[in-house]
Amino acid sequence: MGARNVEKSEQEWREQLTPAQYEVLRRAGTEPPFTGEYTYNKDSGEYRCAACGARLFGSDTKFDSGTGWPSFTEPAVAEAVELRPDNSLLMRRTEVICRNCGGHLGHVFDDGPGPGGQRYCINSAALNFQPAQAAGAGSATSAEPAAADTARGAGTPADGVAGRDAGPAGAPPA
Ligand code: FE
Repeated sequence: MGARNVEKSEQEWREQLTPAQYEVLRRAGTEPPFTGEYTYNKDSGEYRCAACGARLFGSDTKFDSGTGWPSFTEPAVAEAVELRPDNSLLMRRTEVICRNCGGHLGHVFDDGPGPGGQRYCINSAALNFQPAQAAGAGSATSAEPAAADTARGAGTPADGVAGRDAGPAGAPPA
C-alpha cells in the first residue's frame, strides 16, 4: 500500500521484464526448483532486484539449502525487503517483497542455519547478480542493466532514489 520509490504500470513492467521475471516479480509466481540460474551460484558479489536494481542480498549470506532456490540467511540491508503474511495455497508463509518496487522475491522460513534462524528462499528470476570484481563493469550476467535504467526513470523526488543506495546498513527495526 505504501508508495514505492519505483512505481510502474503493469504494461511497463511487462515491457521491461522477461516473461519469467514478470511472472515472479509482478504475479508472485515461483520458478520451478533447480531451474534458476543462481541456485548453485557461489561467486562473490551482490544480488540486486531484477526489476529495480535495489541491493537485496550478498553472496556472503548465501547457503546451499538443497531446496532448489537461492537461499540466504538475511538481506544485505534490512530495510531493502518487506515481509508480509501470505496464506495462499493453504499454507502460512511469509512473503518477501522488494521494498523499493514492491516486486515479489520469494518467502522466508524459520528453518535457516544462521544465528537468526532464517532462510530467505528467493527466486533467481527476481534477482540480478553483480559479481564483486565486475561490479559496474557490466559483464557476463543476464539481461539489461535494469538498475541504471530504473533509477533514471523513477521520476520520484530525489530522496527516493538516494535512499536506496546511500542508506547506512541499519539495524532491523526491533
Ligand atoms: Fe525491486
